[in-house]
Amino acid sequence: GEGLPRPDQTRVMVVANQKGGVGKTTTTVNLAASLALHGARVLVIDLDPQGNASTALGVDHHAEVPSIYDVLVESKPLSEIVQPVPDVEGLFCAPATIDLAGAEIELVSLVARESRLQRAIQAYEQPLDYILIDCPPSLGLLTVNALVAGAEVLIPIQCEYYALEGLGQLLRNVDLVRGHLNPLLHVSTILLTMYDGRTRLASQVADEVRNHFGDEVLRTSIPRSVRISEAPSYGQTVLTYDPGSSGALSYFEAAREIALRGVGVRYDVQHAHVGG
Ligand code: ADP
Ligand code: MG
Repeated sequence: GEGLPRPDQTRVMVVANQKGGVGKTTTTVNLAASLALHGARVLVIDLDPQGNASTALGVDHHAEVPSIYDVLVESKPLSEIVQPVPDVEGLFCAPATIDLAGAEIELVSLVARESRLQRAIQAYEQPLDYILIDCPPSLGLLTVNALVAGAEVLIPIQCEYYALEGLGQLLRNVDLVRGHLNPLLHVSTILLTMYDGRTRLASQVADEVRNHFGDEVLRTSIPRSVRISEAPSYGQTVLTYDPGSSGALSYFEAAREIALRGVGVRYDVQHAHVGG
């Protein structure tokens, strides 16, 4: 990697938006791979029973594989389920299996049901620069566990009609979790995804999001790109599938922006909107 500044402590980023199909998983895996290619040590925690992040990273997650379910429900140490991601040095994944679909219900009756992921992360001793948590498209106990475990929320927003609709509920949940369970929690990052700069709608939505959130919105946006959508079926991120594509370059740039912001360095505007 090109050696971006590393955070002094592990940054735990919760990738959340209760809408499905807005690019949570795509953003999680491609940012994680980008950060690792920049030289960071990164863990992806797949918290969606669909296991799409595990699939996209080429990590085994059939029903028998030890998974994040075992960590949350059976208190298995995270170190016993984490797998290295093939082909990307410094990138690791805590996979999700189909068991996780039941966890939302099973967690209800467990002690400290909201903080089980936080505890598992605190007990994990491997040095990491980033943990990215891919949330399911809901605001149940799995997402609450992520919000309790992390300090930063990253919200991918798809530049389409109703982009901001429903975000109110996520933001209220962030406030609730901050008030009761995790005083450090804040929305640190908004990323515009599937951005098509040729349409007026996309640029209107982008303006609206920037007016609403201000500095949290990354200057880099992610273009709609066929290469991004093809990569998961090869068990790869776009960073290894097609490193020169606009999708790969934009995620690489978004990762750089996130890393620089984390150490308080102002991002150079001239580099924004790669491929957008
Ligand atoms: P979520 O995790 O929020 O449900 P995904 O990351 O799975 O959303 O993305 C939904 C769909 O959109 C997937 O098929 C994915 O491949 C596709 N997709 C995501 N980002 C892009 C992009 N920038 N360009 C083209 N397709 C994309
Ligand atoms: Mg997903």
